[in-house]
Amino acid sequence: MIQSTASLLGNALAHYEFVMEEPFGIAVDATDVDDATFWATASIKGNVLHIDASTAVAEQITELWERLDGFEGIDADVMVRNSLVWLLLHETQHAELGHFTLMGTARISEGHPPSFGLVSRPQMPQAFGDLPAATLAALPFCLEMQADHNAIALMVEQYSTGEWGILRKRVAAMVAMTVLIERADLDRKGNPRSHPQAATRLFQLLGYVHQLPLTPAMMEAREHGRGSLNPADIPDQSELNAYFEQVTKPCLETARHIIAQSEVSSLDDLGNDEAFFHDLDIIANNQTARFSRLQTPGAQELVRLIDHNNLIMAALNQPIPWAPTPQT
Ligand SMILES: [Zn+2]
Repeated sequence: MIQSTASLLGNALAHYEFVMEEPFGIAVDATDVDDATFWATASIKGNVLHIDASTAVAEQITELWERLDGFEGIDADVMVRNSLVWLLLHETQHAELGHFTLMGTARISEGHPPSFGLVSRPQMPQAFGDLPAATLAALPFCLEMQADHNAIALMVEQYSTGEWGILRKRVAAMVAMTVLIERADLDRKGNPRSHPQAATRLFQLLGYVHQLPLTPAMMEAREHGRGSLNPADIPDQSELNAYFEQVTKPCLETARHIIAQSEVSSLDDLGNDEAFFHDLDIIANNQTARFSRLQTPGAQELVRLIDHNNLIMAALNQPIPWAPTPQT
């Protein structure tokens, strides 16, 4: 059964409240727009966040999950719901992170929505006046990575040893939506991309998942201003090894399977396992001296965007909302 994106807004907001232990702080509504082209937009009018999604979003994610039904015991309806909830969480994060102000625009899009009349010229913050042109050009992609990062964190929740099966399913849901946004971008040849390449977004997603067992230790270290992790806060090596075998590796395999089923050719860019894990190790440990040795296009674009994002957040005097954290 095809679900509607807008009807899942309540689920997305309830999930946000469950994870954050407080309600989402911005009034928000959502509408399904009857259109055969895949797109979604977030816009601010007054103090209300409006999320519009074309009916093609729910149709295409349903079609993809029905094709994958039974894969690892995955129920298509549940996966469709998870994928759409993640898209809605991604849109809420554009608002929560202040992206409309940073972009100087009232609307942010995934895919290529039809033009709704005159679009005013973006008015970026004055603080961006001294930024290099390449960084300003990368701004929309950096903000997409920021929204992704927070939506990923909301979706996976905290590390828990008993929830690896649920975690794998949620990761698969996010992979599928990311892949469809890539397909929508590729379908509109000649238009500028609306997003970083999916390989980059998937690299961030799988890197986040790979690091998840260490996040309680990272948060503890950050809270106490320590530059290194307390070994007592880190799961023991046998648990980390089991996590790698039962979560990180299967998630990469699932991503490859979804990519193959969705017929998005550009996704050969993920790289083979050896190259992918080589790059994951460099980025997870923030080994900046080895960044020039990254092998996969996703990892290479990710570190370029991290550099631009650091400049952007420094210009705003704001902490960097996403960046790899050194393990030691
Ligand atoms: Zn977005």
